[in-house]
Amino acid sequence: MVKDTKYYDLLEVSPGASESELKKAYRKLALKYHPDKNPDAGDRFKDISHAYEVLSDSQKREIYDKYGEEGLSGEGGPGMSPEDLFSHLFGGGMGGGFFGGGGRSRPSGPRKGKDMTHALKVSLDDLYKGKVSKLALQKQVVCKTCQGKGGKEGAVKQCTGCNGRGIKIIMRQIGPMIQQMQQTCPDCNGEGEIIRDKDRCKGCSGQKVISERKILEVHIDKGMQDGQKITFSGEGDAAPNVTPGDVVIVIDEKPHPRFKRKGEDLWYEAKIDLLTALAGGQFAIEHLDNRVLLVTILPGEVIKTGDIKTIRNEGMPIYRRPFDKGNLYIKFDITFPAPNWTDNAKLALLEQVLPPRDTPQLPPNPEHIEEVMLSDVDPVQEQRSRGYSNGHGHDEDDDEGHGPSVQCAQQ
Ligand SMILES: [Zn+2]
Ligand SMILES: [Zn+2]
Repeated sequence: MVKDTKYYDLLEVSPGASESELKKAYRKLALKYHPDKNPDAGDRFKDISHAYEVLSDSQKREIYDKYGEEGLSGEGGPGMSPEDLFSHLFGGGMGGGFFGGGGRSRPSGPRKGKDMTHALKVSLDDLYKGKVSKLALQKQVVCKTCQGKGGKEGAVKQCTGCNGRGIKIIMRQIGPMIQQMQQTCPDCNGEGEIIRDKDRCKGCSGQKVISERKILEVHIDKGMQDGQKITFSGEGDAAPNVTPGDVVIVIDEKPHPRFKRKGEDLWYEAKIDLLTALAGGQFAIEHLDNRVLLVTILPGEVIKTGDIKTIRNEGMPIYRRPFDKGNLYIKFDITFPAPNWTDNAKLALLEQVLPPRDTPQLPPNPEHIEEVMLSDVDPVQEQRSRGYSNGHGHDEDDDEGHGPSVQCAQQ
């Protein structure tokens, strides 16, 4: 017998309805009364969503069946908004696609424990070469002394304070109203059972689980990516009647001083001197597996700053196909000689070698030609002079307010 059938009535099902019947009913009604489809339905959509939210949660449903709506009044905060619940179940709003949504499947059988996620910092070198990393973690295992019972056979009694439910409904008076709310049972700390102190298991002091250090061997395969997950099924914390969750290792790729990775490709910045850039030569790249690539620039190839070249198959190995590799891209930066690196006589030699100078391009009838010299730029001086030109000796606000209009008047 249920205390109150209101939520069941809202969903037009009987109190004995199964989970799938509830879901079917909610889907039908939610589509019918969704505000996008039926703007005149008022709060109907909200109400059926709330009813479904409660009844689809086995714990909340139990409380509702026993105590009615008041039993739920102390639930922490508002639940999901109706829209969220709707899109959570059917994937997306009224826009479309929700008919295909499989919805939330509630696993049956023992509860599954939480997954534990660890980030593992891995160098690019290790992602290139592959590696086995040992990772020590502290995890909870079921106590072997008591087989997870917490004490001797028969020592564990159901808590009488909460009848083993772990929660208690308490009444609280707020002004003229009496509010019922649920609270973790203080007698058993929400465990639902009580063990006398002298009967507690010595191995786990009645906690049923003990902490154990476990070493996991994490196989970093060649070509694994930043963010890639390695799952150790069932290696999470264990507890009685709980299927342990998984330990999930998430690869966190460390930045590399020489290489940048873009998917399967590597990027490298090579500084070469002007002579090599113009007349050819060699430079070396120390690769991630400590090989050195000696790269040849052909005489006359002419490499400019910003040029990008590639060496095929010298990028990252491809995950699960380690013999295939991406490309290594090289971006060049040409180092020019320092100022006054040589004398005028030597510079004159360049005229014999380099392509001739461009002559200045002048417009057909220049009014006046002025010869000017370049100065080096001093950033501090530059900033100061910019400050001057903004002000023009006026107050800045004043300038902004009137400047343009004065100019317009003059034109
Ligand atoms: Zn024990
Ligand atoms: Zn209790």
